[in-house]
Amino acid sequence: MNADDPTTDAPQGEAPEPELPQYNIEQARSSRSRCRTCKRKIEKDVIRIGILLEGPYGTGYLWHHLNCAAKRRADDVEAAYEAQAWTEGLEVPSLESLRALREKAEQAKAERKEAPYVERAPSGRAKCKHCEELIEKDSLRVALLREVTFGQQVRGTPINVHPRCVAAEIRAEDCVTEIDGFDEALRANSRGMDDAAIQAALTEIGDLG
Ligand SMILES: [Zn+2]
Ligand SMILES: [Zn+2]
Repeated sequence: MNADDPTTDAPQGEAPEPELPQYNIEQARSSRSRCRTCKRKIEKDVIRIGILLEGPYGTGYLWHHLNCAAKRRADDVEAAYEAQAWTEGLEVPSLESLRALREKAEQAKAERKEAPYVERAPSGRAKCKHCEELIEKDSLRVALLREVTFGQQVRGTPINVHPRCVAAEIRAEDCVTEIDGFDEALRANSRGMDDAAIQAALTEIGDLG
């Protein structure tokens, strides 16, 4: 562990205290720590959970917003509550509320659509990313994944195109939606669309092979 890392409150250059508990729920003592889950700053006085890490360079806590940990590290949060690992007198949210938070996050994740999918255009203001013409309100549009580079990172970003533009766009160099298994993926991902609409889109898309 990097001794300069302000997110760990391990004493520098000393032998680590042997009896640090595995978990530590407390109000952040400063605004210097960063949440290991969401990577954002943990503001002073916000409730955070420290998870003890024993590394080759020392022992210290890795911090997370308690709410972030509730969503992503439920086992740790359950164990910390079991051990009542908080500063005496600290008012912590109930375990039930943290579980509810997690369920909500998981539900949102399950409902997030994954390209390729077909849907109806909610407005007539967006252009097809292939032909640059407007996509009519309520008409079918297809989301494909386009590879976009942000600095060092390469990410797939969904783009909307006319069904008739899919065959050409899917062959573009920066399109990362696979032709193989396209029909199956579209059917599986187009939640909330009836079969007739999906079939109509597939007919318009045509044979990709
Ligand atoms: Zn966070
Ligand atoms: Zn188009």
